[in-house]
Amino acid sequence: MNWLIRDVVILLPDGEVTGDAWIREGRWAAVGRIPDKARGLSFQGRGAYLLPGLIDTHVHFRDLGLSYKGTFYTETRAALAGGVTTAFDMPNTVPPTTTLDRWREKLYHVSRQSWTNYALYFGATEDNIEEIKRLDPMQVPGVKVFLASSTGELLVTDESYVSQLMRESPVRLIFHSEKESLIQAAQSQWKGVDWDTVPDLHTRMRPPEACIESTKWLLAEAPQSAVPLHILHITTAEEVSLLRARPAHVSAETCPIYLQWSAEDFRTYRHLLKCNPSLKFPSDREGLWEGLIDGTLEIVGTDHAPHLWSEKQRSYNEAPSGAPAHGYLLPWLWTLGRARRLSLAFWIEKMVYAPIRRWGIQERGPIQEGLWADAVLFSPNESTVVPPPAAPIHYGRVAWHPLGNHTLQGRVRAVWVNGQLSFCEGQFYGTPAGQPVVFR
Ligand SMILES: [Zn+2]
Repeated sequence: MNWLIRDVVILLPDGEVTGDAWIREGRWAAVGRIPDKARGLSFQGRGAYLLPGLIDTHVHFRDLGLSYKGTFYTETRAALAGGVTTAFDMPNTVPPTTTLDRWREKLYHVSRQSWTNYALYFGATEDNIEEIKRLDPMQVPGVKVFLASSTGELLVTDESYVSQLMRESPVRLIFHSEKESLIQAAQSQWKGVDWDTVPDLHTRMRPPEACIESTKWLLAEAPQSAVPLHILHITTAEEVSLLRARPAHVSAETCPIYLQWSAEDFRTYRHLLKCNPSLKFPSDREGLWEGLIDGTLEIVGTDHAPHLWSEKQRSYNEAPSGAPAHGYLLPWLWTLGRARRLSLAFWIEKMVYAPIRRWGIQERGPIQEGLWADAVLFSPNESTVVPPPAAPIHYGRVAWHPLGNHTLQGRVRAVWVNGQLSFCEGQFYGTPAGQPVVFR
């Protein structure tokens, strides 16, 4: 279907233009001023912003084996509702994506049920380097290396093996950067203690030093790497300082949860904010904002990681780590940024242009003639009311969200994926239109 999107403010890489946009056969056919011969269904934008769809380079959609927490079908709908049109899924699934056969099987499985465009990371184990060497850089966004244990069983602690991966992997390496031995030491120190006695227990169990020491080591090894390195979910101000001296082939991200909350909020939220790495202190959160604003942290990934509400009610040791981030993403970012006078363009840089540049994503990104039409119609002056934390409607499969009861600024009115209107005024339309992402 072709679309004539009327009366919108279109965000371009070098500014804004007020006018119309024409989608023909899935791609942008004209932007700003459209020709008289243009044909298609008319969509009245009423002055809202037409933005490039967000690219989330860090999600956990849970397919195949953890479908009770989420599937590509359910979680890509939640992603769409928040303005995300492309997502890269992590490999710590059941079974983990650590062989080429499993990677292909997962790709086949998700291909017909993804509402967003998609790419699948591969997982490193300490003995699958021969499989890693066969990965296709045009299809695989990266190999995830868990330097510390988190959700799932993936863990690589042998430093010489990580160095070998840096020399021999044909695709980018992405790191969960925490030092396992420091976490083990902290866990034996705090063993048997509960949230009631120590409200920021999770921050003590997974202390700042574990992140700092690991990222320090990665940066020391980085010059030896033949491929780009990406460090996920940065949580400490100290790491931001270290990253200011990063080599050109190293990039880093942080996530909305670390920009919104800190260890002080565990008193209110408990397990709902238990995630890995742990939330750190208010001064760290301030350091993350500085790094985000000065460009040290180039990318925002969500680390969307759904778990059931009932799982989150268990005791400290039993409650899984991770929280949903999708459903309200663009209003969330806009609201967070408004308090610091950040523009919509700031977030589009962090979640569209920077991922496009770093990953070399082909034929997507900016609203530009010839590229695939992935776009969000966003009204910055309206608001989005998030239902209570454990309400049944949060778009994804698990019926809760840490933003429950918040009122956010801005509202996602419509989302197009590959030119198909897939979400409009709270409803999903058509069938999943996601395509696999192709990399340079
Ligand atoms: Zn993650």
